[in-house]
Amino acid sequence: MSRKAAEINEQIPWQELTVGCEIYEPGTSRLTKTGEWRSKTPVWIEEKCKQCVLCAPFCPDACIPVADGKRGEFDYDHCKGCGICIKACPFHAIEWKEEEV
Ligand code: SF4
Ligand code: SF4
Repeated sequence: MSRKAAEINEQIPWQELTVGCEIYEPGTSRLTKTGEWRSKTPVWIEEKCKQCVLCAPFCPDACIPVADGKRGEFDYDHCKGCGICIKACPFHAIEWKEEEV
C-alpha cells in the first residue's frame, strides 16, 4: 500500500469503509467500450448491401444491429475490428478503413 493510501486509510474510520467482496449491481459489457481497442474499422457500404443479414450472426460482439429484418449501422462503441463480418458478407458491402492514430 502506498504511503498516501495509508494516510487516507488512517483518516477514515473502519465503520465507513466499503464492505469488501460484495456486489452492488450487475456488471454489463455495454459499459465497456471495447471499440477503443480497434485498429481497423469495418465500413458498411449501404448501396451494395442486399439486407441478407448474414453478417449479423457472425459478429462475436453483436455489433451489427438488426431490426425489422434489416441491418443497421455498426455499433462502433463495441466493434473490435476483427473483420469477420467482412469475410461473411457475400456482396462485398463491408470494407476496411484504417483507424487514424
Ligand atoms: S452480409 Fe453484406 S449484404 Fe448482407 S446484410 Fe450484411 S452487409 Fe448487407
Ligand atoms: S469487425 Fe468484428 S467486431 Fe466489428 S462488426 Fe465486424 S465482426 Fe463485429
